[in-house]
Amino acid sequence: MTDTETNSPATDQPVQHFDVLIVGAGISGIGGAYHLQQQCPGKSFAILEAKADFGGTWRTHTYPGIRSDSDLFTFGYRFKPWTGPPIATGEQILTYVGEVIEDNDLGQHIRYGHHILSATWSSQSKRWTIVADAGDSGEVQFSANFLWMCQGYYRHSEGYTPRWEGTETFKGKIIHPQNWPDDLDYSGKEIVVIGSGATAATLIPAIAAESAHVTMLQRSPTYFATGRNANEVADMLRELDIPDEWTHEIVRRKVLHDQQIIVEMSRDYPDLVKEELFNGLREYLGDDYDIDTHFSPSYRPWQQRIAFIPDGDLLKSIADGQATVVTDHIEKFTTDGILLKSGRTLRADIVVTATGFNLSVLGDIAFTIDGVPLDFSETVTYQGTMFTGVPNMAWVFGYFRASWTLRADLIADFVCRLLQLMDTKGTSMVTPMLRAEDDEMKLLPWVEPENFNPGYLKRGMHLMPRQGDRAPWQHSQDYSKEKVELPAANLEDGALVFK
Ligand SMILES: Cc1cc2nc3c(=O)[nH]c(=O)nc-3n(C[C@H](O)[C@H](O)[C@H](O)COP(=O)(O)OP(=O)(O)OC[C@H]3O[C@@H](n4cnc5c(N)ncnc54)[C@H](O)[C@@H]3O)c2cc1C
Repeated sequence: MTDTETNSPATDQPVQHFDVLIVGAGISGIGGAYHLQQQCPGKSFAILEAKADFGGTWRTHTYPGIRSDSDLFTFGYRFKPWTGPPIATGEQILTYVGEVIEDNDLGQHIRYGHHILSATWSSQSKRWTIVADAGDSGEVQFSANFLWMCQGYYRHSEGYTPRWEGTETFKGKIIHPQNWPDDLDYSGKEIVVIGSGATAATLIPAIAAESAHVTMLQRSPTYFATGRNANEVADMLRELDIPDEWTHEIVRRKVLHDQQIIVEMSRDYPDLVKEELFNGLREYLGDDYDIDTHFSPSYRPWQQRIAFIPDGDLLKSIADGQATVVTDHIEKFTTDGILLKSGRTLRADIVVTATGFNLSVLGDIAFTIDGVPLDFSETVTYQGTMFTGVPNMAWVFGYFRASWTLRADLIADFVCRLLQLMDTKGTSMVTPMLRAEDDEMKLLPWVEPENFNPGYLKRGMHLMPRQGDRAPWQHSQDYSKEKVELPAANLEDGALVFK
């Protein structure tokens, strides 16, 4: 089936129609397009992407040292073997995704420079109408039977920077890593990086040697794991000349198996896991280093993603004296640095605010369903991918702790199965609806804070859909469960209403 073009009665502008519109050409959108092409070869589709190129997260973030914190055997797609070291640079990830586009001729389906502004559902025509800002071409319209939301979870235009007193008096530069200037000269400069998440841990060793000194200023510590950027099983299989496809699958299983053990251990024996992580740090920092103050968070391991430090690079920078960790609170900015609550001051030429993201719910697109603006927070999720009262739409929200792409692949299978079922049934509209038996169901937050509590979710939880206390209105964030449950989910148990 090919796409068709009609004119909008309202604007007389051409409206291109597709069976499926994919929003976003990041790792999820490109993966979605691959699966759709493989599993539903008759469907016409396009990918609308706001940026001028593919890659999403890996295109937006250009700060020195940008790399994954997951291994690429699981962060890579299940269908394309990863042949590099487990932790990959942003550039290597872009090359990998680029090869998927190239090998599968997906480029012809991507419309770059199309920033979607609104999506309007009509139950009469059983279609979405999408308006996108296409830059010099102005606003353009598309229509689609199904919307596949692969727009990620945060606003790409700017990161989250808290407000601090005195920033206007500071004479140096304040930079968020999400908007890293290409021409930033940090050689010989005093740098303070605020934050100690994966971004700070990646950035600091990449700039420490060239700058005068880097201070990692954190309010509270983060867990870090260290190890070689290598996978012994992969190395052995490669040495034996085992086909890349086998190596990829075997190493994926091994990584997932090991991670499952760590997750269970973190839950059941958090102190033991803590001590293991600390032993890894001591190897670089020595026994006298104050690990309790600077590397011992108040939450238990795995309540937030544990940042992996390949080859201990951040710790080497600290041990070498090129970087220092300060655990304190900011009182205010001064003309030449930061005054801390303890009374100490940190001199800085450049302050980098590695303070996180702004949650973006559904790509900041204005959704309307039959004339009524959609308040996403009033919906309940179906399997963590569709939403009550929202027809013909799925959102790829990956795993927080395990690799995002594991879930992107699973949801792609789910969407393709749903589209195939709709064709078999001869229906063109599917909407999740709470059933009579769900009437008294307890509604819970999108994610239980006890289970996972990063800042961007805490700040934005009130904007997110809710989940129920039972299937299919939950998402467990547990790959080992979902890889069995999602493919087996009964799509005809009444929770999905077909018309
Ligand atoms: C620095 C960093 C490192 C990370 N490392 C890891 C990691 O190691 N492992 C892991 O599992 N996860 C990691 N994550 C999380 C990461 O974002 C996801 O894993 C994954 O890259 C998300 O892919 P995505 O395609 O779903 O979304 P994104 O990468 O966010 O891509 C979404 C795309 O949609 C486009 N878009 C959004 N809104 C619109 C709109 N209205 N109109 C048109 N286009 C739109 C955007 O321009 C973008 O290109 C990391 C995140 C960051 C920021």
